[in-house]
Amino acid sequence: MPRANAKRPSRVKAQTILLCVSVLFLSLLLWAISISFSVERNILPLRVWMFDVGQGDSFLIEFPTGEQMLVDGGRNDAILTKIGEVLPPWDRTLDAILVSHPDADHITGLVSVLDRYRVETLYETGMIADTQVDRALRDAIEDEGAQIQFVSKGDRIQVGDVLLRFLWPAESYDQERVSDRNNSSMVFVLEYGETTVLFTGDAELEAEEGFMDAVGDVDVLKVGHHGSLSSTSWEFLRQIRPEIALISAGVNNTYGHPHPVVLSRLVDWGVELFRTDLEGDILLTSFGGEPEVTVHPLPF
Ligand SMILES: [Zn+2]
Repeated sequence: MPRANAKRPSRVKAQTILLCVSVLFLSLLLWAISISFSVERNILPLRVWMFDVGQGDSFLIEFPTGEQMLVDGGRNDAILTKIGEVLPPWDRTLDAILVSHPDADHITGLVSVLDRYRVETLYETGMIADTQVDRALRDAIEDEGAQIQFVSKGDRIQVGDVLLRFLWPAESYDQERVSDRNNSSMVFVLEYGETTVLFTGDAELEAEEGFMDAVGDVDVLKVGHHGSLSSTSWEFLRQIRPEIALISAGVNNTYGHPHPVVLSRLVDWGVELFRTDLEGDILLTSFGGEPEVTVHPLPF
């Protein structure tokens, strides 16, 4: 009996040591996994897709931290196929949608997106159009329960190391006096390290004059209003000094976008030009340095 009693403390001690070693090992393992995840997160690039959605605009921003943001949704449901090709099949969530302005070629696809995807936040300017498609969008937002945030000049959204700096509309913009919705477009600069991208919606000369001083030099210009003659003045190009220009327009669209005068302005400025009507989906990738643009040709 005394022998048995004498052995008990050493067995308890051994079990305690084993437990401590196990806890230590588990902690080290969890630490290694968390380090590995954070390293993996940090090496993900920023990706900006300009989708070929015909005559309209739609962009998907994939942040290095994993968040996904859709900017406009095109004039039909084509965006659903595009998003489906980029996101994994199990991913039915978009962190945010940005609505540049409530014209049909920018918001129609958003109605279906809100129906299919869980959307946390919708950013908009507050501009409302008295149209069937805008009413459908308002209903879809309400059904989805997405939180609405209004943005204007001076607002910022920070996602990890990526900053969205909003330049337009001006806070004092009087929507009652706006003759056309294009000049109410949400305009913002995306900044990630040395990469800067200017999103212009359908902003025309009136808006360009209002925000161009606040832009600074940009690497990439999303050309305003699908390359219409009503946007992208020579003065504007000289002010923002883009190196790459992106144009979203439909093949043989009835508006004649992009306009030859705007195209020659861009060529004269010396930009590298990418167009959805000629090249299909266009992908901009950045690790914080110089952005790289690749094209994903049309299926014909
Ligand atoms: Zn448009």
